[in-house]
Amino acid sequence: MSFKKSQKLYNKGLVNLVGAVNSPVRAFASVGGNPLFIKKASGSKIIDVDGNKYVDFVLSYGPMILGHTHKNVQKGVEKALKNGYSFGASTENEIKLAKLVCDAFPGMDKVRFVNSGTEAVLSGIRLARAYTGKDKIIKFSGCYHGHQDALLVAAGSGLATLSLPGSKGVPEGAVKNTLIANYNDLDSVKAHFDKHDDIAGIIIEPIAGNMGVVIPQDDFLTKIKELAHKNGALLIADEVMTGFRSKFGGAQELLNVEADITCLGKVIGGGFPVGAYGARNEIMEHVAPLGGMYQAGTLSGNPIAMAGGIATLKTLKKQDPYKKFNEIASVIEEALVDSAGKHGVEIVVNRFGSMINPFFTSKKQINNFEDAQTCDTNKFAVFFWEMIKNGVFLPPSQFEAWFLSSALTKKDLIKTVKAIDKAMEAVSKI
Ligand SMILES: *Cc1c(COP(=O)(O)O)cnc(C)c1O
Repeated sequence: MSFKKSQKLYNKGLVNLVGAVNSPVRAFASVGGNPLFIKKASGSKIIDVDGNKYVDFVLSYGPMILGHTHKNVQKGVEKALKNGYSFGASTENEIKLAKLVCDAFPGMDKVRFVNSGTEAVLSGIRLARAYTGKDKIIKFSGCYHGHQDALLVAAGSGLATLSLPGSKGVPEGAVKNTLIANYNDLDSVKAHFDKHDDIAGIIIEPIAGNMGVVIPQDDFLTKIKELAHKNGALLIADEVMTGFRSKFGGAQELLNVEADITCLGKVIGGGFPVGAYGARNEIMEHVAPLGGMYQAGTLSGNPIAMAGGIATLKTLKKQDPYKKFNEIASVIEEALVDSAGKHGVEIVVNRFGSMINPFFTSKKQINNFEDAQTCDTNKFAVFFWEMIKNGVFLPPSQFEAWFLSSALTKKDLIKTVKAIDKAMEAVSKI
């Protein structure tokens, strides 16, 4: 397998791009080697510039849930393109996507579209503050909520991959209202409410995916919601990753808890830059032009991106691949566990719906960021490259979830299971 052309582009890219990437999660910092450059993708496969073909479990970090270049999405976008790309005025597509999204979330009467998950969350936080008149926000260690200043502490994802506690350039003032709690640890949330009376909200990934997959235990979400409401604060669900991924709608319904504010991104744009935040009418009425919370965007609700989102969600609703996702994930889990056992490698596998990943750790369970950080990232690096060599593209980090697409075939799965066994064998030799 040759990576010559990727290497060449990487060297070229270093001149005018930072690290030759436009998002640090795409760098191969923690697995070594140079990032792959992609030429094209179709269905469940992605092809790099050297012509190597992989089964894709990155899927643009989640959005490509139907697989790549799905014909319905192509058609929807091509049709929209012919009418112009951006107007700075409203279009019918915005109403259509808004209805699809609001219908899927019981707690969402109204939604506002933005251009990224980061924007969705920073607006959702502003809204919680506007509605409650309070300033402080509780976030959980290991949860990632985009790269806004206030939440870029103990933030999982790329920061965890690069072993960074937070970001330089974030002034102290920007995080002085951010309180950190531990995932699955109710007492750590209680302690903040005991100490502070100006907490506007708790923000959480209802299924965490940015420290690897971590699942809430023992009604954790219901309990933190009760705590929030008892103290006049809101529950903000960051479903940028999980929205339309665990079911049509969000993880909230599966877990039987309705958030006050929900933030979305990734899948709702189907590969185009779309984010959104939504809530009940009484909360959304605080957003301008109805209310005094200002939030705007020149390209927000972009007609091409809306068309991509509409086609993706409509197709997804029709396909209803969620049962299939569970079955595929269980096959992958079994392959990981069996192969690790066979080769004497210690792992924990966490999965929820179409998100799954192995943790290379001697721990028995991974329930929070501290647990996740016990992982041997060197083992993951060996595993990652062996998977690449056997034609499977994974996120280049121990702390990212693998994503499933509805385009995966039986053949892809057989290939993946075989690759897992080879990769585990390689890990057992280090
Ligand atoms: C990806 C992600 C974000 C940030 O979205 P961007 O589109 O990258 O800005 C926020 N929250 C969660 C849970 C995410 O997974």
